[in-house]
Amino acid sequence: MILVTGGAGFIGANFVLDWLACGAEPVVNLDKLTYAGNLQTLASLQGDARHHFVQGDIADSALVARLLAEHRPRAVVNFAAESHVDRSIHGPEDFVQTNVLGSFRLLEAVRGYWSGLPADEKAAFRFLHVSTDEVYGSLSATDPAFTEDNKYEPNSPYSASKAASDHLVRAWHHTYGLPVLTTNCSNNYGPYHFPEKLIPLMIVNALAGKNLPVYGDGMQVRDWLYVKDHCSAIRRVLEAGRLGETYNVGGWNEKPNIEIVKTVCALLDELRPKADGTSYSTQITYVTDRPGHDRRYAIDARKLEAELGWKPAETFDTGIRKTVAWYLANGDWVQNVQSGAYRAWVEQQYAKPEAVQA
Ligand code: NAD
Repeated sequence: MILVTGGAGFIGANFVLDWLACGAEPVVNLDKLTYAGNLQTLASLQGDARHHFVQGDIADSALVARLLAEHRPRAVVNFAAESHVDRSIHGPEDFVQTNVLGSFRLLEAVRGYWSGLPADEKAAFRFLHVSTDEVYGSLSATDPAFTEDNKYEPNSPYSASKAASDHLVRAWHHTYGLPVLTTNCSNNYGPYHFPEKLIPLMIVNALAGKNLPVYGDGMQVRDWLYVKDHCSAIRRVLEAGRLGETYNVGGWNEKPNIEIVKTVCALLDELRPKADGTSYSTQITYVTDRPGHDRRYAIDARKLEAELGWKPAETFDTGIRKTVAWYLANGDWVQNVQSGAYRAWVEQQYAKPEAVQA
C-alpha cells in the first residue's frame, strides 16, 4: 500500500492510473478536491478495490495520522499543492497554507507514523516529495541548465512556497532521519491537464474560436516533459533513489512559449482543420506579460539518468501529438471541468468533510 496525496490533480491522477496499470500495490489517494482536483480523471478506477479515495486536506493532521495508522503504507508520494503561478500572484495565501503549512503538517504526521514502525518497515519506508524546477529561479539565455547543486532563487509566490516545502523535507531528513526523496521537474504536459495551463488552454481556446493569449513576446523558455515520463521518473526514484537526495527530472525539450503555441496550432490545423481553411495561429494574441515572469528554465536531468537509468519515452514531437489528439478525443472531460457541473456533483457527493469513496 502507498499513500498518494493530490492524486486527483493532473500529475497525481496520471501517476495513480499508471501505478495501478503497472500492477503495483494498492493506493490510498488523499485529495482535497480543490478546483484542480478531478475525480472524473479516475473514473476508470470506479469499483477497483486497489484504489481508495479520501477527500481531505494534507494539513489535517488527525485525518492523515488516521489514514497512516489504518492503511500502514510503505511510502507516501506527495503531489498535493496549489500549483498555478498566476493564481499565486493574485492570491498567495492558499499557496502558503497548502504548500508550506500543509507540507509541514504532512511531514509531522508521517514522522509520527514512521518512528513507530518496526525496524524493518522503518528502514524500507520512503517519503517522496514532488517539486518543481521553478525553485531555482530564472536563467539567462546562455546559462547552463539547472543541476541539483543550483541554489534556490524562487521568484513567484508559487515557487517560493514550493521552495519552502523542499527545505522542510530536507530538514526532516537531516534533523529527524526521515527517509525522504525529492524530485524537481520541469513543465509537464499531457492528458487530464486543467485548461488554465498553457497547452490545454491553447487547445481549448483554439477549438472555441477564442484568442490564444501569449504573455509578452512569447519568448519565455521552458523545458517540457510528457506527464507519463514524469510518472516513470517518480516510480524509479521511489524504487532506487538515494535517501535525502534530490533528482532533477526533465525532457531536454527547451522551447519558447510561442513555439509551443504554434506547434499546437499546426497540429490542430492537421487533425481538426477549420472549415474556412485558415490556421488556428491567426487566433494568437499577445497580452501584457505576467509580473516577475521568469525568462528561462532548463533542467539538467543527467543525475537521474546516470544514477537510476531513467530516460523519457516520449520526444516533444510524439508527446505533443498524443496530447492534442487526447484533447480532441476527450471534449466531454474538458466540457465537464469547465461547465461547473462537475463541481456541483463533487459538492453533492462530498457534502461532509472526510467523506470517503472506495
Ligand atoms: P494540480 O493543481 O493539477 O493538482 C494538485 C492536486 O492537489 C489537486 O487535485 C488538488 O485538489 C490537490 N490539493 C490541493 N491542496 C490540497 C491539500 N491541502 N490537501 C490535499 N490535496 C490538495 O497540480 P499538478 O500539476 O498535478 O502538480 C502536482 C505536483 O507536481 C505539485 O506539487 C506541483 O508543484 C508539482 N509539479 C508540477 C509541474 C507541472 O508542470 N504541472 C511540474 C513540476 C512539479
